[in-house]
Amino acid sequence: THFGYKTVAATEKETLVAGVFHSVAAKYDLMNDLMSFGIHRLWKRFTIDCSGVRKGQKVLDLAGGTGDLTAKFSRIVGETGQVVLADINDSMLKVGRDKLRNLGVANNVSYVQANAEALPFPDNHFDVITIGFGLRNVTDKDKALASMFRVLKPGGRLLVLEFSKPESEVIAKLYDLYSFKLLPKMGELVAHDGESYKYLAESIRMHPDQQTLKGMMENAGFDQVDFYNLTQGVVALHRGYKF
Ligand code: SAM
Repeated sequence: THFGYKTVAATEKETLVAGVFHSVAAKYDLMNDLMSFGIHRLWKRFTIDCSGVRKGQKVLDLAGGTGDLTAKFSRIVGETGQVVLADINDSMLKVGRDKLRNLGVANNVSYVQANAEALPFPDNHFDVITIGFGLRNVTDKDKALASMFRVLKPGGRLLVLEFSKPESEVIAKLYDLYSFKLLPKMGELVAHDGESYKYLAESIRMHPDQQTLKGMMENAGFDQVDFYNLTQGVVALHRGYKF
């Protein structure tokens, strides 16, 4: 049946994604720096700047992994604020928690294992939600966006940082060459895991482009949705509000 088919497909993707992130967790930060030439730090900085986050607020860093965004938010919201790092994968959560503890990140951070499609938080709870390089790994993106909308406070905002569609054909060609040829080789060399980095390249190509993702956010209920292309559209930051 249609239903049966969908269920099987979802399970397969979830198992695949779980395998990938269990496998890359230990080398994740190193690979991020290598693969993006350190530029992911700028993309994340830009995300924080666009979030409008303030002292005392509640933030959800969804698919937060090793916690780069969480660490920055934690400093800004301060003692009266709260940051929840949520991720489906316990290996990534563990690496994240250990790293943040070593960095001396404040105890305003909590760690929750959760699936973006069914968030275990009350309605209207967070001022800011970010999902950084996470949405493309989620099986049912519409369900996940609806779940984020539900737990966001009225007046709150969602920021989706994700690979997107390069602005020009030349960049798109170069980028394809890079991600399908070089990236798996780097993954093999550094993390001894070419397969996971092949998945990464494929998942990037499959991910909805800027306009499509904007439409999906609007369908989930978000208002005033806009996006910024970063690094020629290799990455885009989408922002939407709940009113
Ligand atoms: N946000 C971090 C960053 O930007 O460095 C980590 C991004 S990492 C590429 C993607 C993360 O999404 C992984 O830690 C993975 O476990 C998590 N993830 C995948 N599917 C998920 C889901 N359905 N719900 C929550 N997290 C998920």
